[in-house]
Amino acid sequence: MSIFKLLYPKLYVSSLFEINVNDLYKAGIRGILFDLDNTIIPQNADVFSDEVCSWLKEIRSRNLKACIISNNNAKRVSKLAGELDLPAICYAIKPRCKPFRKALELLGTYPEQTAVIGDQIFTDILGGNRLGMFTILVAPMNGKEFWATRLISRQLEKIVLNLFKKQPVYTEYQHK
Ligand SMILES: [Mg+2]
Repeated sequence: MSIFKLLYPKLYVSSLFEINVNDLYKAGIRGILFDLDNTIIPQNADVFSDEVCSWLKEIRSRNLKACIISNNNAKRVSKLAGELDLPAICYAIKPRCKPFRKALELLGTYPEQTAVIGDQIFTDILGGNRLGMFTILVAPMNGKEFWATRLISRQLEKIVLNLFKKQPVYTEYQHK
């Protein structure tokens, strides 16, 4: 698989709420791995918004399994995951495959039945694609970012996102 394909999300949305849980279910998705910071909560916040909580409730009502997978530290990740009553993997060092495999084990789903939702191409999307998962890139929530993410990763993402514009990104789910 070419490097470009590995960086390419299956779906690109401007917000979490554009993701239709029913459509995911119909596409065969049974488990979802969530990035934490700037995907479901701004990096400098410590309370989830009501919208995020109700979106997550929808996932539960469809009986989809969910797990948080974050590169952040145990203190923040376990506190926030506890509030949502979700299992979590911290210090994941995405895009390594190991934490994604561990998350699949926790959920009990196959990679092709599992979606990864995250705001960063070089961690969330690359990691999910390496294992053949359904990757969904969301535009980052407006939170403060780690300086290296801001300076390096976002600049490289801009280049990749510009390449995407030349090739259409899927905007509809691919039914099997
Ligand atoms: Mg993030």
